Amino acid sequence: MKKIALASILSAFAALAFPQMVLADKPIGIAIHGGAGTINQAKMTASQQQAYEAALTEAITQGYAVLEQGGSSLDAVTRAVMVLEDSPLFNAGKGAVYTFDATHELDASIMQGQDRNAGAVAGVTTIKNPILLARAVMEQSEHVMLAGAGAEAFADTLNLARVPNTYYNTEFRFEALQRARQALAPQPHQASLPFEPNWRMGTVGAVAIDRSGNLAAATSTGGMTAKRYGRIGDAPVIGAGNFADNSSCAVSATGHGEYFIRYQVASDICARVKYQGKTAAEAATEVIAELATVGGTGGVIVVDAAGQLSWAFNTEGMYRAKRGSQTPLKVEIFSDKNQN
Ligand code: ASP
Repeated sequence: MKKIALASILSAFAALAFPQMVLADKPIGIAIHGGAGTINQAKMTASQQQAYEAALTEAITQGYAVLEQGGSSLDAVTRAVMVLEDSPLFNAGKGAVYTFDATHELDASIMQGQDRNAGAVAGVTTIKNPILLARAVMEQSEHVMLAGAGAEAFADTLNLARVPNTYYNTEFRFEALQRARQALAPQPHQASLPFEPNWRMGTVGAVAIDRSGNLAAATSTGGMTAKRYGRIGDAPVIGAGNFADNSSCAVSATGHGEYFIRYQVASDICARVKYQGKTAAEAATEVIAELATVGGTGGVIVVDAAGQLSWAFNTEGMYRAKRGSQTPLKVEIFSDKNQN
């Protein structure tokens, strides 16, 4: 007992006297994703692959730089997600998919692990970087989720950048809408998803751990191509598409949102870590495999309290990257190594 007390007094003293030395030993790391789905190596040209890899590398590098400079995990995930939102390649921000009515509606959320504070926005149509608005909801309001016009009025009170809805127009997403409309034509008045959802997906996200041991997760999306009737996916639903808790892990998800909401994928992974003593990688692999058995497609990136960065997905591929003080840079797209 006395030895333990002495050890903790000494380590507290060391932390006060040499804070940099003590903190420098702690792991830092970040993982990102740019969506999962039918990502077929045979159908992707070399230049497309290069463009995706370059964008993922840029996002992970910027996010990791924040951590290396002593920044918070919250700042790191915000930075990485903004880079992906600003790229037309991913289904978030600039590259958001089209709704059935050929507009764009975006969802995003963010969470920090030290106090489980969280913020989210749903169905916004003119916010340049929805992740910044989600963060503002967390930090500058009493609420967790704001939606639609109200969320945009809140953005105005903070002078957050707004854009016309056409800012998110891209040709290849418009072509995807045409294909989706054709596939939906037999049941035009239903909000059902009667066809393979896999190719309609994409989302971006980041999870990180900083030198103070704080975890954070951020997720941003345009949702699913041809969504209607104000459909909201899992990305802004805390516990479904995004979750962070210092006592277990942080998760950002991508996939068929309805399943991720129903199975509370992000919080289920962290609950298995917390209550069953599983590693985050084991828990993620298990939950994503179980999701496949009920027809839910998609994947997750995860960081645990020890700084382990992992991923799991049950689709053909997932745009993904990770980098940490204990993890060399990895940028991958296809499924040949689809676990961790
Ligand atoms: N999860 C997103 C949604 O359902 C889409 C995706 O990740 O591809 O809105």
